[in-house]
Amino acid sequence: MKESVLKSIAQKVGTPTYVYDASKIEAQFQRLQKAFQGVERLRVNYACKALSNLSILRLMKKMGAGLDTVSIQEVQLGIKAGFEPSDIIFTPNGVSLEEIEETAKLGVQINIDNLSILEQFGTKYPHTPVCIRINPHVMAGGNSNISVGHIDSKFGISIHQMPHVLRIVENTNMRINGVHMHTGSDILDIEVFLYAAEILFDTALQFKDLEFLDFGSGFKVPYRPGDIETNIEELGEKLSERFHRFCKTYGRDLELAFEPGKFLVSEAGYFLAKVNAVKQTTSTVFAQIDSGFNHLIRPMLYGSHHEIKNISNPKGKERFYTVVGYICETDTFGSNRKIAEIVEGDVLVFHNAGAYCFTMASNYNSRFRPAEVLWYNNEAHIIRKRETFEDLVHNQVLIDFKEKVTV
Ligand SMILES: *Cc1c(COP(=O)(O)O)cnc(C)c1O
Repeated sequence: MKESVLKSIAQKVGTPTYVYDASKIEAQFQRLQKAFQGVERLRVNYACKALSNLSILRLMKKMGAGLDTVSIQEVQLGIKAGFEPSDIIFTPNGVSLEEIEETAKLGVQINIDNLSILEQFGTKYPHTPVCIRINPHVMAGGNSNISVGHIDSKFGISIHQMPHVLRIVENTNMRINGVHMHTGSDILDIEVFLYAAEILFDTALQFKDLEFLDFGSGFKVPYRPGDIETNIEELGEKLSERFHRFCKTYGRDLELAFEPGKFLVSEAGYFLAKVNAVKQTTSTVFAQIDSGFNHLIRPMLYGSHHEIKNISNPKGKERFYTVVGYICETDTFGSNRKIAEIVEGDVLVFHNAGAYCFTMASNYNSRFRPAEVLWYNNEAHIIRKRETFEDLVHNQVLIDFKEKVTV
């Protein structure tokens, strides 16, 4: 997106504000489709925990994506945004049987990752189609916080437990219509991904009613200039070819599914914040913005890198800054960053602010969560208003201590 556009959005809407570029989301979606054009039946289910604004969901629907959800509330958001329940897959971890039942009743594809739930669900609803999430025990990516396929992970049913799964399926007359894996974020080595895929193929051959294979996500996107990213094109070529061979062996053409979050929305997002103060200390120069980890927690939570630029003075002489927030504890966005000279009142933009940014925002320090803007067809659309004091107190009940308290 053009910095001049971001600047004018900051002026009109104020800060802090998230801006999403619809054309980038569309471009990523098309890139994935193109990489897998050799597959007849490709399904891309957007993992909406990355960014779940209703208008973003509607954009995904318009592009032809399905939806990957992890809570019944995400399912409800998807339906509200216009998805058919049959376009939605529910891939929870550690949720109650009741939540799974409720979601299944809506007509959503269920994906189960726990033997005990599988047995209970299968016993109660013997012929309902169910997908199972396997854990192939492959260590993908370098970040142990976001790598979920390894041996210690809480996700998926271990491939070593397949005999038990098969017994449950037989005993309960379940219909397993899909097999799924999601090895977590930051796949750099396509060979590792393909190795995990082999395990999925092996597992899949043990089920006779399959309609789809779901390879999850974990595509890495670039955060800095020159960063390596998952080579989607190479993956597409290799996996499509392997998938064809699998379908021949299996005896039927299946659907190939993915559920990208970050890949579709990370780079489309920009976070705009204003510099409240420039503070010179003995060790550094701090640029203090009108936000904090209450609005963008990824740097503090995962140590993630977000490029930071000064769009009020883009051509200014570069200096070193540590960009911090206004939260009353350490909330560093970036240390020792080279940024065009900052004066108080300047607007900074943070890149890669589409995925896991707004959805992780909170009201810590009793601040309002940011506004959200969708840049679509060269126009800015407000898709979430900035909160107000009313929103902060909306659900709170103020006790009048003079009266008797009843619960
Ligand atoms: C979070 C999640 C995704 C999306 O992961 P990204 O790294 O954002 O692409 C996909 N599938 C499942 C089951 C998830 O929990």
